[in-house]
Amino acid sequence: AEAQLRQVQKMEAVGQLTGGIAHDFNNMLAVVVGGIDLAQRRLNGPRREVLMHLQNAMEGATRAAALTRRLLSFARSEPLLPERVDSRDLINGMSDLLDRTLGERIKVDVELDPETWPSYVDPHQLENAIVNLAVNARDAMDGQGMMRIATANVTLAANEVGDVRPGQYVKISVTDTGCGMTSDVLEHAFEPFFTTKPVGKGTGLGLSQIFGFAHQSGGEVGIESEVGKGTTVAIYLPRTEVEAKVRVHPAVQRAAEED
Ligand code: ADP
Repeated sequence: AEAQLRQVQKMEAVGQLTGGIAHDFNNMLAVVVGGIDLAQRRLNGPRREVLMHLQNAMEGATRAAALTRRLLSFARSEPLLPERVDSRDLINGMSDLLDRTLGERIKVDVELDPETWPSYVDPHQLENAIVNLAVNARDAMDGQGMMRIATANVTLAANEVGDVRPGQYVKISVTDTGCGMTSDVLEHAFEPFFTTKPVGKGTGLGLSQIFGFAHQSGGEVGIESEVGKGTTVAIYLPRTEVEAKVRVHPAVQRAAEED
């Protein structure tokens, strides 16, 4: 529970951090656009002035590039360390965390198939994914409603969800009775930094991280949503008894083995 609380605090810190970064990045872009705009207006004026505005734009762009480099190295710093995971156990272990995340006025319904197949994924990333889905459900419900989290075993045909490969999958779904997504929001929901939430609240990274995690693990993500009714986001993870099909960078694997 202690580690989970730290995880929630970390997620909040990441949220504030990325919100701040988006703000800084916008400011830098404003400098770039402003510099180019002034340079264009001054094209027939003194050459020295034009060059000064272009120099300002260049500096803004250079700072923005440095910022995205830092952001990327931060994003890469969490390696994928897969192990055999029973998602049923993992979700049961998150109940306090989910209650705290959702607050008292959102009811949580947990329906875990007792036969849920194991999968071979990074448990911390799966936990992060579920926390992100719970936060999205909470935000969509404006503090009141019901969230259902369920696991099920499913057999999918090729491309039945996204571009999934045919096979057996553990389906982990989170359903809310919230506002739902318009087709416009649905179309962009997986894009990094796409958010409809106010600055500081949304980062637009939740669903894109989940998409990355599912794909790296050989799975998929599907969304079903109806405006005014609610949303279901389902993560599909390949059924795996043993270490297989998961691409781990050799250096990461070595580091894990040396631990
Ligand atoms: P964030 O939550 O920080 O905005 P996400 O990538 O998790 O970033 O979500 C992107 C957008 O997708 C949200 O801003 C919201 O508009 C929409 N969205 C995600 N989950 C839900 C949901 N359960 N119900 C309604 N809209 C959602």
